[in-house]
Amino acid sequence: MILTYMAQVIRISFMRRLIPGILIAIFVFVVSSAYGFVVGPDGRPYAEPVSYVVVIDAGHGGDDSGAMGRGGSQEKAVNLAVALKVAESLRKHQDIKVLMTRSDDTFVPLHDRAVFANNNNAAVFISIHSNAATSKKANGIETFFLSVDATDDEARDLAVIENAVVTPDVAATLPRNDDIDIKDILYDLTRTEAHHESSVLAESVQGSLCAALGKENRGVKQAPFAVLSGAMMPAALVEIGFISNAAEEKRLLSAKEQAKIADSITKGILDFKKTTSRGWRIVNKTARKD
Ligand SMILES: [Zn+2]
Repeated sequence: MILTYMAQVIRISFMRRLIPGILIAIFVFVVSSAYGFVVGPDGRPYAEPVSYVVVIDAGHGGDDSGAMGRGGSQEKAVNLAVALKVAESLRKHQDIKVLMTRSDDTFVPLHDRAVFANNNNAAVFISIHSNAATSKKANGIETFFLSVDATDDEARDLAVIENAVVTPDVAATLPRNDDIDIKDILYDLTRTEAHHESSVLAESVQGSLCAALGKENRGVKQAPFAVLSGAMMPAALVEIGFISNAAEEKRLLSAKEQAKIADSITKGILDFKKTTSRGWRIVNKTARKD
């Protein structure tokens, strides 16, 4: 009887130690899975996105219409239509989580867009725009990544236009251009892999678009775009065509063409994703560098 009683006491005390241990182990497993904490070979933890997050940014919106087409169309509407189609086609891939800086006709301040991507541990940030020029004949596709110095005068002028806003009340919500310290941001970017990878991303999107659409390839360029500054992941801004060119405006307004453009941007992102097999990690003080 005493022996049975003692055996039971031992079993209960053993279980009492074991159960909290198991519960703690389950708790640690669930929490670490939820936040994606992974321990590297050197034993130091680093944060890794649980899925490959792509942030799609439809340029302009709300009071900021962007460029105007000669037929009266607004850049913000074209950008949004294409962005929604990119999101739709990317969402077919289960390992990709798609987020949009805007999914309707609202204005989002430029600096908030990159911050949104940073806060969501995005692997990729793509800003979609339609181009404009004083020459009616200007046409074709070009893709940009962030740089303090523009590739050429045209690229610099375009960055000035894209960094500007249409109405004074919208302007009041934005930092002035001289408040945006792109040099500091660029310094941060060059310390990470992100800046180099932004050029790879831009090449991938530009190549895919030009191959599918057969339009003039204006190339991959660099310019100080405010919307790209502050993004701590590979980031690019694509100008999908000239809304200021009557023929291109018509093309940009066609739902069929928009779908073709969106599929090409999607392919460019997927091709880029393949080059970064383990996905993107935010490189910060606590992160492993490799
Ligand atoms: Zn624009």
